[in-house]
Amino acid sequence: MNANDFRIAAVLGAGTMGHGIAQVLATTGLTTRLYDIAPAPVEKGLAQIRANLDKGVQLGKVDAAARDAAVARLSGHTELLHATDGADVVIEAVPEKLELKQDLFRRLSAALGPQVLLASNTSSLSLSRIASVARHPERVTGMHFFNPVHLMKLVEVVRAEPSSDAAVAASVELARRMGKDPIVVRDAPGFASSRLGICIGLEAMRMVEQNVASAEDIDKAMVLGYGFPMGPLKLTDLVGLDVRLSIAEYLAREIGPSFEPPRILRDKVARGELGKKSGRGFYAWDAQPKS
Ligand code: NAD
Repeated sequence: MNANDFRIAAVLGAGTMGHGIAQVLATTGLTTRLYDIAPAPVEKGLAQIRANLDKGVQLGKVDAAARDAAVARLSGHTELLHATDGADVVIEAVPEKLELKQDLFRRLSAALGPQVLLASNTSSLSLSRIASVARHPERVTGMHFFNPVHLMKLVEVVRAEPSSDAAVAASVELARRMGKDPIVVRDAPGFASSRLGICIGLEAMRMVEQNVASAEDIDKAMVLGYGFPMGPLKLTDLVGLDVRLSIAEYLAREIGPSFEPPRILRDKVARGELGKKSGRGFYAWDAQPKS
């Protein structure tokens, strides 16, 4: 299993993450098959990739010939085993539901030889539980990309209990080939990024609750004092308060009470203040430009 020899990739799920992963694989030079359960999401994903690449050309960041070559390497599919036939690597980016991912890994691993790397883009689920249903579970890893995939450099490569050294090394190599800067994390709840990011976010919320400072000033403290590109409360508004609440509840169950969601977070979600997408969270977005 050598990622430098990978020629064909399949991406399962053409949504926010799947289309981004497929875009980067295709621009890296791999023949890339984008699979979803129906033609509409496949078409939408392919159209988003073309739009991203066109924007890259307009901004002078992508060469027009490179865009055309990437588009030519992409195809859309609604038949799972057609999309994955002959693939060297399959990256799964379907909704965050354990049974759904397990069902896919069960079917894929029965159909594909043990040399095929099977990676999941799960942001929180246990990789070991996903791998547990697979034939040859040693070739299963996590490859946790960040949104938007074509811009964000980090990939968390997650080592599940059964993952082989070869599968982890191939995942790291593939991420580097895609122009990313990977880290390797043991399969622990929240991996590295979510666990630490949520921890800072929850503490910032408790500080608002306790009137330590305003949301703007707490964010400013981290941006100006610590060089964060964005404060933890503004980031929470962009991610969605409901999304952060469910991650905090999961981490509180799995790791301990330090991740217990603060009352202010529960109250805001109950009132429908979900952040930018609802117009209000820790900031009022309806009064600000949507960007
Ligand atoms: P999304 O809802 O945008 O896309 C999911 C896609 O999967 C949809 O197009 C849906 O039609 C498709 N789908 C549903 N069932 C399927 C099946 N059985 N087979 C194939 N496709 C199926 O979701 P997303 O935000 O792209 O998230 C996908 C995964 O990536 C999740 O595990 C999520 O936790 C993880 N993730 C998301 C982000 C993010 O910022 N959105 C970041 C990192 C990781």
